[in-house]
Amino acid sequence: MIELTEVTKVYAGGVTALAGVSLRIEAGELVAIVGPSGSGKSTMLNVIGTLDRPTTGRVRIDRYDVAQLSDAGLSALRATRIGFVFQHFHLAPGVPAVDNVADGLLYSGLRRPERRKRAAAALERVGLAHRLNHHPHELSGGERQRVAVARAVAGNPAVLLADEPTGALDSTSGAGVMQLLHDLNTSGTTVIIITHDRDIATSLPRQLHMRDGHLTQELSA
Ligand code: ADP
Ligand code: MG
Repeated sequence: MIELTEVTKVYAGGVTALAGVSLRIEAGELVAIVGPSGSGKSTMLNVIGTLDRPTTGRVRIDRYDVAQLSDAGLSALRATRIGFVFQHFHLAPGVPAVDNVADGLLYSGLRRPERRKRAAAALERVGLAHRLNHHPHELSGGERQRVAVARAVAGNPAVLLADEPTGALDSTSGAGVMQLLHDLNTSGTTVIIITHDRDIATSLPRQLHMRDGHLTQELSA
């Protein structure tokens, strides 16, 4: 469902973040991406998530060749098929949890009451049914990340991409978020997680190792 063929990414200024990456990830996989800081992990995740276009090479998501899609087509693909979770949650301050999640469905074409209904259901799914009207500053780090996961999955994306989702959490909250990502994978979502945490990486069925913009090795259980 995801295929990268000889993908490179050279940023303005000349930094080569991806130096020719080829890989396939099938629907339903649970994959860890590991490697030192600056090795190109986030760039690869952003290219997979169509947040960024490659400099050269081909990216296919579902049946679509990303290069063939207009910006509007890419936005639609992203809004309907892909969910993102980041290290620092990226929640809107001063906005209740339910609306933080509902606003992730703005491009769905659903009306506000339906968006809020689905948001509440997604928050229930991540164990936060009792926190719908809390603002981010009233939530713990682990709870904030659960809200971010709820926002990412409220639209039922096929793929969930997480960039260091436990990086800002204590180990107990981090384990809770990892359990949640495992559960989402079990229910059918393809999940790709960048992590610095060795224990997390080795607990996942497939690990991609990156260094200097290359995939250096691959391990599977
Ligand atoms: P990682 O996530 O593994 O730490 P990144 O993909 O963030 O690595 O970065 C890979 C390389 O690309 C680094 O050298 C980084 O400084 C550079 N880089 C990342 N984003 C940009 C950008 N927007 N503009 C220029 N260089 C960037
Ligand atoms: Mg990164």
